[in-house]
Amino acid sequence: METTHEQLRRQAIQFLRGLQQAGVTDLPAETARSLGAFLAEPPSESVGEERAKFSPAEEAGPEKPAATRESQADAPADAPRSEKNVDSFSLSDPYGPPSALPARRAALDLLNQQVAACDRCSELSSCRTQTVFGTGNPLPRLAFYGEGPGADEDRQGEPFVGRAGELLNKIIQACKMKREDVYIFNTVKCRPPGNRNPREEEISNCWQYSEQQLEVLQPEFICCLGSVAARTLLKTTESVGRLRGKFHQYRGSRVIVTYHPAYLLRTPEAKAKTWDDMKMLMAAMGIEL
Ligand code: SF4
Repeated sequence: METTHEQLRRQAIQFLRGLQQAGVTDLPAETARSLGAFLAEPPSESVGEERAKFSPAEEAGPEKPAATRESQADAPADAPRSEKNVDSFSLSDPYGPPSALPARRAALDLLNQQVAACDRCSELSSCRTQTVFGTGNPLPRLAFYGEGPGADEDRQGEPFVGRAGELLNKIIQACKMKREDVYIFNTVKCRPPGNRNPREEEISNCWQYSEQQLEVLQPEFICCLGSVAARTLLKTTESVGRLRGKFHQYRGSRVIVTYHPAYLLRTPEAKAKTWDDMKMLMAAMGIEL
């Protein structure tokens, strides 16, 4: 089944109606502009036609494993694409094709607005400087799912910007990707005071936002950083030690679990295990070392 521009348009409108029913009444100006441009765009080629543009020779061309779906969307028409990456566009996925990028950005912006106004956790919402929604590529092959904002993240409004963030950046680079290729977000969007772990009730309160982020992003791969992220996503009580080293499944995404960069800073001897996990992930993504 092909996903046409018209179908995507209807799905975007349906999503907006859902937000309206949830009480969202205003759109930021930039969001309204990009969404308006997408909705006004005349129907053109279907995703199926776009897929057909790639000749077998192109599909068999040199692998560009670090390429992301967004970078493919911006690439020149004659740029080689790997079969694996072309296959990552699910034709039944309303947010999947590159042409849906404005709809994804708009959906994330609206969700971010909801998060910014959220006060479900009384302690966290009263202590935070700002919410920390998530950052990165709206069309990621890979999303990193962490625990919660620390002091630096709370100040800057972006996940993984402190020392743990620097280490995560190094891990991403070692995997031959850039931070802007991936998406990064946390189980809770507000900083737990004193850097304590988020409480079960807070994690549960915030899960609906992560769930909606993943619904929009639909990454091919998710990397859970630490036990809080792994337990929340996989609904398990197993330790990182037992969950790492193999693939799990969350809806359409393949999931790996590894140690949180903050833990690696405290326990450098665990870095080798995380590197093993990342090598397993890179092999599955078709990225050569
Ligand atoms: S942690 Fe999540 S659910 Fe709790 S107040 Fe912040 S945004 Fe809302």
